[in-house]
Amino acid sequence: MMFKRTIFDAHHLELKDQVSGFLDSQVVPFHDHWAAQQATPRDIWHQAGENGLLCRTIPAEYGGHGGDFLESVVVIEALADRRISGILTCLQSDIVAPFILKLGSEAQRKRWLPDFTCGATLGAIAMTEPQGGSDISALTTTATSHGNSFVLNGTKTHISNGSEADVIIVAARSDDPGAANAQPAISLVMAETERQGTHRHAISKAGMPALNTGQITYENCVVPETNLLGAKGMGFIYLMTFLGIERLVLAIYAQAFAERLLYDLIADCDGRPTAEGTVLDYQNTRFSLADLYSSCAVNRAFIDQCIVAANAGHPDPKSACMAKLRATETLRQIAALGVQFRGAAGISGDSGQQAMQDMSDSAVQSVWGGTSEIMLDVIGRGLASVL
Ligand SMILES: Cc1cc2nc3c(=O)[nH]c(=O)nc-3n(C[C@H](O)[C@H](O)[C@H](O)COP(=O)(O)OP(=O)(O)OC[C@H]3O[C@@H](n4cnc5c(N)ncnc54)[C@H](O)[C@@H]3O)c2cc1C
Repeated sequence: MMFKRTIFDAHHLELKDQVSGFLDSQVVPFHDHWAAQQATPRDIWHQAGENGLLCRTIPAEYGGHGGDFLESVVVIEALADRRISGILTCLQSDIVAPFILKLGSEAQRKRWLPDFTCGATLGAIAMTEPQGGSDISALTTTATSHGNSFVLNGTKTHISNGSEADVIIVAARSDDPGAANAQPAISLVMAETERQGTHRHAISKAGMPALNTGQITYENCVVPETNLLGAKGMGFIYLMTFLGIERLVLAIYAQAFAERLLYDLIADCDGRPTAEGTVLDYQNTRFSLADLYSSCAVNRAFIDQCIVAANAGHPDPKSACMAKLRATETLRQIAALGVQFRGAAGISGDSGQQAMQDMSDSAVQSVWGGTSEIMLDVIGRGLASVL
């Protein structure tokens, strides 16, 4: 670990060993193959469940581990530290499951959460549409009331686990404003993917290739009203609220990924001999890496502060935007130098392939969960209130 941290206790460190053991034996040896295939075997989700990687914070009464947010952090960081994208458990555990826990009825929690924890059910959340993902209020997928059902129509794109998930939280425009008042009338509907009128396919991509990413089209897909999450028409407010924790989760992943890349790059520069010593002995290399090391140290302190606040039940959405912005932009700088400072080895052979993959994987981080421009917009809109 690069930086001294004080947020974990012995129990978290024990969990870290358990998670690391599973990832090193069951995931890392196969991950390059999954990335090349752009597919991760479904069984690995069951194994992840059996080995305690899923739904750490979901209460035991709903089949979860009843742990604190720090347990989730342990799992997220263990994944990022190994550059794992194929089985991004935080999507299931810390982004999708909390919607069901916090907004779902007792029946909905009991129906889905135990299977989320053991990996029998794979979940996803679908906000983004082909015409744009940054402005959620402009989404056009509709959930039209029809008797005791909703009828879904529209297309969602770039959805993580989208073409493999068993159930997807679909953000769709309702046909009446419900309780949303001035907000766009969006509702969140749990749509099982086996339902008629669901058409989907995987999207191939350069970044995080082992992670399934799908496009889903709903064509008169009938979903019972009992699958509505929370109140009708309140979806926009729910999404904005939950995006805070989603962005913190993505910042945690990006920060641990950045530290891994920087650590590897320092080691490679130090190990590459030159006529005068090593690549690390060049002043330019040292200055650049010292600058990024300092950024990582400062980001680490701020993100740990955000983690502690979230663990105490006080996550701050704006701080999450700042954390995601800084962690992902620093990560992208490190990944770019990971190519340059390795010379030809940064673009050729196994090391070059890894450096290029790191660049592509890094590019994903400043796009999903809201782009860096959107982070700046959210932070910027609150500037007057800091005076
Ligand atoms: C690997 C991957 C996984 C994903 N998983 C999911 C998922 O599980 N669920 C889901 O719903 N979505 C998911 N997404 C989609 C992701 O959230 C969107 O890609 C992202 O929100 C940006 O939307 P967009 O791609 O439509 O870009 P656009 O919104 O079209 O933006 C294009 C460009 O315009 C800029 N821009 C847009 N609005 C503004 C503005 N107001 N001010 C300044 N600049 C602006 C953007 O920053 C960007 O540079 C995923 C994306 C990727 C790459």
